[in-house]
Amino acid sequence: MKIAFVSSEIYPFAKTGGLADVSYSLPKAVSHHGIKVISMMPLYKTVDRKKHNIVETDLYIDVSLSGKNYRFRIYKLKDDVKYYFFHNEELFDRDFLYGTPEGDYPDNDIRFGAFSYAVIEFFKKTGFYPDVVHTNDWQTALIPVLIKDKYKLPIKTVHTIHNIAYQGVFDKSTIDKLNLGWHLFNMEALEFYGKVNFLKGGIVFSDAVTTVSPTYAREICTPEYGFGLDGVLRAHCHKLYGILNGIDYDVWNPETDPYIYQNYNETSLEKKEKNKQMFLDEYGLAGIEKPLFIFIGRFAKQKGIDIIQEAIPELASMNANFAILGSGDKSYNDFFAGIKNKFPNIFIEVGYDEPLSRKMYASADFLLMPSIYEPCGLNQMIAMRYGTLVVARKTGGLADTVIDIDLPAGYGILFEHPTKTEFIKGINRAKELFRNKKRFYRLREFVMSLDFSWEASASKYIRLYEEVKFGFPKGV
Ligand code: ADP
Repeated sequence: MKIAFVSSEIYPFAKTGGLADVSYSLPKAVSHHGIKVISMMPLYKTVDRKKHNIVETDLYIDVSLSGKNYRFRIYKLKDDVKYYFFHNEELFDRDFLYGTPEGDYPDNDIRFGAFSYAVIEFFKKTGFYPDVVHTNDWQTALIPVLIKDKYKLPIKTVHTIHNIAYQGVFDKSTIDKLNLGWHLFNMEALEFYGKVNFLKGGIVFSDAVTTVSPTYAREICTPEYGFGLDGVLRAHCHKLYGILNGIDYDVWNPETDPYIYQNYNETSLEKKEKNKQMFLDEYGLAGIEKPLFIFIGRFAKQKGIDIIQEAIPELASMNANFAILGSGDKSYNDFFAGIKNKFPNIFIEVGYDEPLSRKMYASADFLLMPSIYEPCGLNQMIAMRYGTLVVARKTGGLADTVIDIDLPAGYGILFEHPTKTEFIKGINRAKELFRNKKRFYRLREFVMSLDFSWEASASKYIRLYEEVKFGFPKGV
């Protein structure tokens, strides 16, 4: 079985969020089962070619759209045939992946549309025809449309929705710009309220659609979480699967993490305390006896940033420390930059900083995730791997990976509604748990023993690939 995995971001080459982590670790886990997987992504200016040993090949792909030719030079990793990078200077040599903090690049339809064509032309030119193409999010959602409708290739397709809020919606002129054909501009295909919706195309034309947790699979079929595509998903629910993401246990491992102050495992948790002390010292916080709460994530409404923002006065007056790391929408960046260094118990860093995030996971007592919705969420799994307990809103993948301490075998704190009151209540419950040291330490050890690795989920994806290819076995 041969799989082509296509994504707009793959760790460690380019990452804006969890999609990159998944795009690194899922193909890796699948290939451990003896399945050949090649991964493909655009080669952005921000990818460090030298550091990653990315080299040019002789291969190029021409894509002609509306009379204009886009030439993609193919790059690969030196001494490795698992990754292919598609480079076109005009489309991908930019400072950001999808847009500036002010907004999306206006030609994202051409950028990712041309890339989608180039991927299929790559198959034709190299003769590497995969059994299944696994595409991800709106950026690559046109690939199943093109395979089925334009090229009519006997390649099966699986499309994964990592976040249904991002759909790739463009003006209807995109139909002409991408030579898609007006027969696709209808309610059963790409049309979405008079516009063109890439993600809808991916849902309609793929042989199977997956999303990243069972709860989110159910949620996106409802108007509250479906962002207008719930009806389409209900119509295609026979091929919709919720498969929980995992995290890469080699990448996220407190025993080997080179960025943290001291490595540790569940038998040496006193070293986690050392991490906490050193973190407090380095970032100007005081009081090892107080619980340390962290937030790491995109500053986007989805992540419950408004709730955190609203709760700042309460947090500032609590007998606890907080560390907040994130970046995203300009208004949030400005807000948090504006209150940086204002409160002695709140450390704030606006930016994207993986080494700092690792120190935070290692040093914290609790991770805060007050998400409005959360397709899967990786932070909570990473946190637990580092012995950090989770305080989260009960939604999507958070509901699938955290069990509240009031329930039998529970090990985290969940709250029902995304409001400031419930959020603060959750923090207070965490503080109470922190005071009960015996229980707190036991739970800390327990969450480190939980298995959030890719193994179980990779097997589910393999069964799904087999199912779309051969029509069996059933039931993921
Ligand atoms: P998303 O919705 O952003 O994909 P996930 O929870 O699935 O959220 O994945 C988030 C990933 O990005 C995690 O690996 C997290 O540690 C990382 N991350 C998010 N924001 C930052 C940041 N500002 N600095 C460092 N890492 C970050």
